[in-house]
Amino acid sequence: MSNKITLSSEGVFPIVRDKHGNALPNAPATGIAVAGTIQGEGKLAGIPSLFIRFSSCNLRCIWQLPDGTFSRCDTPYASFDSNDIHQITVVDVLALVRHNLGPIRHIVITGGEPLLQKEALIELAARLKSEMQLHVTIETNGTIFSEQVAQHVDLFSISPKLANSTPNLAKLAALGLSPSGPLKFHGERRLNLGALQAYIDVCRSADKAYQLKFVVGLPSDEQEIISSYLNQLTGWAASDIMLMPLGATHEELQQTTPMVLEMAIRNGWRYTPRVHIDLFGSKPGV
Ligand code: SF4
Repeated sequence: MSNKITLSSEGVFPIVRDKHGNALPNAPATGIAVAGTIQGEGKLAGIPSLFIRFSSCNLRCIWQLPDGTFSRCDTPYASFDSNDIHQITVVDVLALVRHNLGPIRHIVITGGEPLLQKEALIELAARLKSEMQLHVTIETNGTIFSEQVAQHVDLFSISPKLANSTPNLAKLAALGLSPSGPLKFHGERRLNLGALQAYIDVCRSADKAYQLKFVVGLPSDEQEIISSYLNQLTGWAASDIMLMPLGATHEELQQTTPMVLEMAIRNGWRYTPRVHIDLFGSKPGV
């Protein structure tokens, strides 16, 4: 029996055919008449990919920008407001992938936090590998590790969340949000050094790839990355440490990009752009 996955409203995207292979009535949100988009961030930026977005997250990120304004999670429909969900079996997800794959060889499983649905994730990743021989990336906030999931993944894109991501009443009020259940747990959950070390160790021993991708919005983030993360972890390489400017819009990115670029160069880390914002703005499903 196939596991059920709770996906966000985007589900498997961007697609042009349903699980039976019938053409969908509307073009994908990319505005491009074929299934697929590109990976917009990190080591595989620019590679044609299909995305699968899991619903729900164990964190609730709200960052402060240099000008004092706030920027929340860029997929709030998979974290803050994860009510618009889509329950689907792994078998049906595989059918959607099969009918929309074309020449694409890369699948990106993202969220939300995919590791919250561990059993379904294991089945999905294993079958994407064994039945279709696809390259599988999992995008995670790095708070949960699973050895069984790791067996079936090629690239772990791990985005640990710095202190600046922690929500508080002032940030909530400024964005017109009310405190919700898991909010108070963000500060306790966001840093799990044991999980991060396990990711690094499994990737090194099993010859898998990873990237530690930090979203940076303030100059003080640099010292926190060094003292709270890199000085506490072993076995990492500078080429696997990646900085990405905070910002879900062009205007927000203008505030952070020069600082983040300089920080990356100064430390010998990698800089990653957010190509999707250049191409599609903050539109979902792209
Ligand atoms: S960890 Fe990612 S998905 Fe979860 S709230 Fe933060 S930015 Fe959103």
